[in-house]
Amino acid sequence: MSRTFSEIKSKVKRGKAVVLTAQEVRELVESKKHIALEDVDVVTCATRAVMSGTYAVFSFPVARPHAFRRAEKAWLNGVPAQAGPCPNEGLGVLDLMVFGTARSKNDLRYGGGHLFRDIVERKKISVKVETDAGKTFEAEVTLDDMPLARLFGTRHCFKNYTAFVNPGDEPVSTIFHAIEFGPRLSGASVSGCGHLNPAENDPLLETIGVGTRVLINGAEGYVTGEGTRSTPEKPNFSGFADLHRMDPEYMGGFLTSSGPECVCSWAVPVPVLNRSILASVTKGDSDISLPVVDVVSRTPIGATTYGDVWEDADLEVRFDSGACKGCDRCRPEEVCPTRSIGFDTGMPTLDRTTCFNCGLCATVCAGDVFSAELGALCFDGQKVPIVVRQSDRQRALRLAEDLKMRILEGSFEITEMAERILL
Ligand code: SF4
Ligand code: SF4
Repeated sequence: MSRTFSEIKSKVKRGKAVVLTAQEVRELVESKKHIALEDVDVVTCATRAVMSGTYAVFSFPVARPHAFRRAEKAWLNGVPAQAGPCPNEGLGVLDLMVFGTARSKNDLRYGGGHLFRDIVERKKISVKVETDAGKTFEAEVTLDDMPLARLFGTRHCFKNYTAFVNPGDEPVSTIFHAIEFGPRLSGASVSGCGHLNPAENDPLLETIGVGTRVLINGAEGYVTGEGTRSTPEKPNFSGFADLHRMDPEYMGGFLTSSGPECVCSWAVPVPVLNRSILASVTKGDSDISLPVVDVVSRTPIGATTYGDVWEDADLEVRFDSGACKGCDRCRPEEVCPTRSIGFDTGMPTLDRTTCFNCGLCATVCAGDVFSAELGALCFDGQKVPIVVRQSDRQRALRLAEDLKMRILEGSFEITEMAERILL
């Protein structure tokens, strides 16, 4: 038995469709409820993670016409931008491309991901331009001054990912850890939102293809095709969306010991067309394999499942400022990859709007101010504690819920792909 996309879309339009988040489907399965094809029409899936393959294109006026001929170089809040490709000769307009992993020349703890969030928060952004005549000038802009501000993913939304460990004898600086990766399997870094992950729910990409409408950082956007390093076993997507419509809580910067990284979130509707998709959406975390990879050689050294990562784990870090011991140096404040920890009149503070729930603070706090059950990877007789999560399942759940509500209210229309992505 199967249904067509048009049949499901028509049901959605008539307000007759059953739309569930991937989490709700899983809860039905866990309550031993048998789910048949006719019980669910659309499943909303989501992931929030560090996504290196991100860049943004901006176009905005920065000076009166003929104030300069063309820009050669530019920086936004010190983050280097590529000027062009259009030179906008003599127009006083900048076209810029900024990488999510670019690092500010003014602040090594600030990068493209931080900049994109600041722009979406409509903060004032300082622009510095070097012209072809060797002159420099500066200006201030906000998102409202930018007719075009678009975020692109070149490699987003992997069908889950990998756990990394360091079996060597030396600590390692890497994009897969916020601090130096401790040696001798002392901890693991994990990525992937398990059973919530969009491509995990449609692994053959029967519904996610070129032209599929999705949410990127809360804004409606589109899949444009496969991303770089996409494989049949582990596909990922390219796509874009408008920064003007994004929600800052779904995006941001994430500092690693190898430089700034970029956080993005995707939510994708998966129409349940057939039993094969139904079988995928009913899978749980412990049904989804998780390779364990040596962070230096990038070769697998074992395997477990996402059950180790998300089953029984705290999705949100607990915070109790009253438990602070007032240490001379606050390690959580130093290592927090989103700079969400501060001190106010001697007491620690936590900014929940920027916190990524990576869990690192809970592993280094000398008291019990930050605490969380993060689980451990069990493979080949080893048990390696998870010390940092580069995916935020808490907010992925919220985004999946948000997409479900938009579909039910009729403000988000599911679209049939224009073309399949070949695996
Ligand atoms: S490490 Fe923990 S206990 Fe010590 S100052 Fe920081 S928050 Fe307080
Ligand atoms: S969980 Fe802790 S270390 Fe991680 S982002 Fe939040 S406050 Fe920072």
